[in-house]
Amino acid sequence: MKVMMGIEIHVHLLTDSKLFCSCPTDYDGKEPNELTCPVCLGFPGSKPKVNKKVLDSAIMVAKSLSCQIAPTMFFSRKSYFYPDMPKNFQISQYEIPLATVGFLEISNKKIRIRRVHIEEDPAKLVHVGGDITSSQYVLIDYNRSGIPLIEIVTEPDFESTKEVREFLSKLSSILEHLEVYDSSKEASLRVDANISLEGGERIEVKNITGFANVEKALSYEIVRQENLLRMGMKVEREVRHFDAETKMTASLRKKEFEEDYGYIFEPDLTDIEISNNWTKSMEKQMPELPDTRIKRFVKQYKLAERDAKVIVYVDKALADFFEDCCKIYKKPQIAARWIVTDLLKCLNYQGLTIRESKVKPKTFIELLKFIDKGTIKERLGKELIKDLVLTGEARIPIKIEIMIKALVKPNKMVAIIKKVLKENSKAVNDYKAGNEKAIEFLVGQVLRKTKAVGDPNKIRELIKKLV
Ligand code: ZN
Ligand code: MN
Repeated sequence: MKVMMGIEIHVHLLTDSKLFCSCPTDYDGKEPNELTCPVCLGFPGSKPKVNKKVLDSAIMVAKSLSCQIAPTMFFSRKSYFYPDMPKNFQISQYEIPLATVGFLEISNKKIRIRRVHIEEDPAKLVHVGGDITSSQYVLIDYNRSGIPLIEIVTEPDFESTKEVREFLSKLSSILEHLEVYDSSKEASLRVDANISLEGGERIEVKNITGFANVEKALSYEIVRQENLLRMGMKVEREVRHFDAETKMTASLRKKEFEEDYGYIFEPDLTDIEISNNWTKSMEKQMPELPDTRIKRFVKQYKLAERDAKVIVYVDKALADFFEDCCKIYKKPQIAARWIVTDLLKCLNYQGLTIRESKVKPKTFIELLKFIDKGTIKERLGKELIKDLVLTGEARIPIKIEIMIKALVKPNKMVAIIKKVLKENSKAVNDYKAGNEKAIEFLVGQVLRKTKAVGDPNKIRELIKKLV
């Protein structure tokens, strides 16, 4: 069955203050409702004022998605009744959004962008004793209310969940490069997904956080709708909720249509003219974006395109990490290989991003140089990467130092070998009796004692001398 999917992405734009008031936006670790004022609490008579920094960032996002920017835009009230927005409307954009008709390219396919607009985030609802469908009561935190959001709406161009995933990771990398988005913040990127199968109505799954969850929610919906249609049942238009615990979706409400929101112009704000000069000056300030950076990595560092893509799309911080490595290490391809294989594997396994981990370019490159020189075997290097990720810079050089000392002091190696020979007299006798394999066993025993430090060939020679 042919699947059609489109997504709407809500992203917190990084600013110091909220969209329509001067309350701070850094709500992490703050008491609930600490960062509020009459405007973001929606008191009657309070007047919103637009934060220009939000418009600057939003113009850059729209430009990076090749959108057309409206010459004049204005805000509208989207009416709905829900405790996360006590004034009973959200200030959003409807009739004329900031930008329209753009695209983002993934694996040689263009995903069309329908619109990009600015709106305020509602408050955060805390469902106590269950989730949205089962909780006993709800607490409301207005710290999040009024935080600027950019909403990006795609056309239904996705045909698989893999395409959605690729799109999201590329988009998030672009937003990070623009420095308008902090991926480490909880709920800073939320996805609503629309999905329909041939012969069925469109289903909307609301408010999914986390890329992996988006994929799971969509996969679940594809199977659920397929089954309904196969059994000759109807897929009716509705809004569903994805439960990250059970990995299933459940019906929330029958879908309302855009007309149901009773949009009206926001009378407390004026029209905003977006001059060509403004757009151009924002374009000039735009930093290097992921696609350009990948091409530069291929050219400047002679990376395989595949490695360059992985490094840039995982997150901006990883690309920065790679470039910092290249400043102190003259073998970029080798650094890239270690990053996309063992370092990433370790980060993923530990559930950490490069920024959350303790590994630093300096210690990472120290390790690679030891491996280059043969001081540390590759196998041990792979293990040490885990230490670097978890414990950081201080302990690793010491550990390496100790190993080097162990290596440069031949006396110590001789002592270890003597001990091994003493402890394994059977193998020694076997070797003396002509069994060549026995010596390999002894080499192995020595390497176990030195924690794999030392050249097996040299150890073998020493053993032959000492028996
Ligand atoms: Zn406020
Ligand atoms: Mn929205």
